[in-house]
Amino acid sequence: MGQAYFLIYVKFSDSADPRGVPVLVPCSSTSPHSNRHIRPAASRRYRAVRASPKIHYPDNVHGGEPMLKSAKRILTTHTGSLPRPPALTALYASRAAGETVDEEAIVTAGREATYDVVAKQIEAAIDVGNNGEQQREAFFLYVRHRMSGFGGAWHRRPFADVAKYPGFRAWGDVVDSGRPSVSNRDGVPKAIGAVKYLDDVLVHDECRTFRKALDACGDAGFAEPFMTAPSPGIIAAAMLNEFYDTEDAYLAALGEALRVEYEAIVSHGFLLQIDAPDLALERHVSYQDRPIGDFIDFAERVVATINHALRNIPRDRVRLHACWGNYEAPHDCDVDLAEILPAIAQAKVGAWVLPFANPRHAHEYRCVANLPMDNGQLVVAGVIDPLTSFVEHPEVVADRIERVAQVIGDPTRVLAGTDCGFDTSAGRGRVSPDVVWAKLAAMAEGAKIASKRLGLG
Ligand SMILES: [Zn+2]
Repeated sequence: MGQAYFLIYVKFSDSADPRGVPVLVPCSSTSPHSNRHIRPAASRRYRAVRASPKIHYPDNVHGGEPMLKSAKRILTTHTGSLPRPPALTALYASRAAGETVDEEAIVTAGREATYDVVAKQIEAAIDVGNNGEQQREAFFLYVRHRMSGFGGAWHRRPFADVAKYPGFRAWGDVVDSGRPSVSNRDGVPKAIGAVKYLDDVLVHDECRTFRKALDACGDAGFAEPFMTAPSPGIIAAAMLNEFYDTEDAYLAALGEALRVEYEAIVSHGFLLQIDAPDLALERHVSYQDRPIGDFIDFAERVVATINHALRNIPRDRVRLHACWGNYEAPHDCDVDLAEILPAIAQAKVGAWVLPFANPRHAHEYRCVANLPMDNGQLVVAGVIDPLTSFVEHPEVVADRIERVAQVIGDPTRVLAGTDCGFDTSAGRGRVSPDVVWAKLAAMAEGAKIASKRLGLG
């Protein structure tokens, strides 16, 4: 069976909720001081949430305001994860290593980091920003704290492009071992029980923290806030199935569990971004020895699961990010975008977030001509590479934006973004925080140049 949890309430002096902030804590890792906040009713194994039949959307959803397009200028955004403070990273790394950590310290550090990262994005002129995923240790691993059924550990097989170059692999191991971090490849939990969402109070609390961080910035907020949640496909691929009879059954359970997160994020008025590296990455990981047709079939089943999980959410409140993995490596085993685009294009979303800055996929911007744009969809074009410390020249950014706009034929449907996150798994980012903010500021400068050239505003 899966891990048992306690629900604890951590109190802060500025908390609007007199109960404090809820945190689900594995029974084996509660801090010696946290029991004083445990409510009697929460000391039993926490029950899975019941499916909520109706979402209460805020006015900006039912009021018909679609996802913001670049109507007057090219808007800027990014792909989700932003650098975490060293102390927070160290806490996440210790917890991921199985050490006992102070859960209250994680909550406090995560909240403070959220406030900080929102202010920094606004300073860098990001229009469509988020919480930087500060309250999660990695872009999909965090679900082990919110869903039942995960336990044990396994090591993912080496990625094909890394296995192909033993010298590079040895070099990478040295680089990654030199600092505290969370790995989403080694020691990853498996599905060993029924996967169900434990309690939606955690995602709602994360959303409320983000909202408070936005409110703290007053009028200088984002044009539109977004939050991320993982694809069922990346969890199915990375968190090995040892419970369900079939992969489809595992995907279906994940889809229903993730629906809780998806609907919660949208109910708070945030744009939802689904992170689906699996739609490209898994070709050279899980499916590296299989025919391409098998992988396309997997991608189509994942997209069908996503579409089903989105059944209560308007299309234009969701954007989908696909990529070949956020790691610096040869990437010469990556599948071509043209091969997987028909599967990705089946997603019932309002925008696609795709990487067009890195040296392996920059030429594939031409493929956006084959995305369906008949429902007003947008493209967030990756124009910043999060895996290099080069600060892109604004003119380079502008060129990249322009060429995507030319393929689509409508600049208002293009946003400027990043190829992937800057710290998708805590401590694994390749760019130092000061350079990250310089890169994002360069993106904003480049977007201004492109806006003028494209005749916007
Ligand atoms: Zn990515």
